[in-house]
Amino acid sequence: MAENGLLLVISGPSGCGKDTIIHEVLQRLDGEGFLSVSMTTRPKRGEEIHGVHYYFVSEAEFRRNIEDDQMLEFAQYGENFYGTPVGHIRSLLAEGKTVILNIEVTGGKNVRRLLPFAVEIFVAPPSLPELRRRLEHRGTETPEAIEKRMEIAKRELACAKDYDYIVINDALEDAVEDVMAIIRVSKLKTDKMLLKLSEVTDYAES
Ligand code: 5GP
Repeated sequence: MAENGLLLVISGPSGCGKDTIIHEVLQRLDGEGFLSVSMTTRPKRGEEIHGVHYYFVSEAEFRRNIEDDQMLEFAQYGENFYGTPVGHIRSLLAEGKTVILNIEVTGGKNVRRLLPFAVEIFVAPPSLPELRRRLEHRGTETPEAIEKRMEIAKRELACAKDYDYIVINDALEDAVEDVMAIIRVSKLKTDKMLLKLSEVTDYAES
């Protein structure tokens, strides 16, 4: 897969605020950044729109996509399946864009193995009680689903150590700035700069 763009993986427990951070970061990237739209078997929630927030599909359709090699990665989370369709990412990276994957930790691990050039950020809540408060405040989950997500959160936090960066979302603006700083510095990595440098030297030699 072409890698002149930047592939950014963002993981973190449900309710830690990663969707809000990503929304802010995409606005600041101003057309240079794209969020990969995942496929899921989870039912639509609230105002979610098919093709914008997720591709909502049946389990049969999800499995068909896996068999047809259309998924970069996929994982089960709670009762449902989630996966990253590969096609769009490939073309965006080839165009030099920044592509963000908002995925859970199994997906993060698989992307790390498959595409080692990806830059991975783990977003953590300031504390577990604060995470529970945010999940309850969101009001989109039943009390049982919240308990389940809190359990998953504890397992996810144990995976933070495998990520390139950890951002603690205490104050939103600080967390957004941290992610923007990571994007900025990742674009200056030697492999990306050598490509640019070769353009400069070609120009100097001609
Ligand atoms: P939610 O149901 O709250 O939208 O998402 C539940 C979890 O699934 C979140 O941690 C989210 O990051 C993760 N997720 C969403 N899309 C994907 C995907 O394509 N692959 C994987 N592995 N996880 C995903």
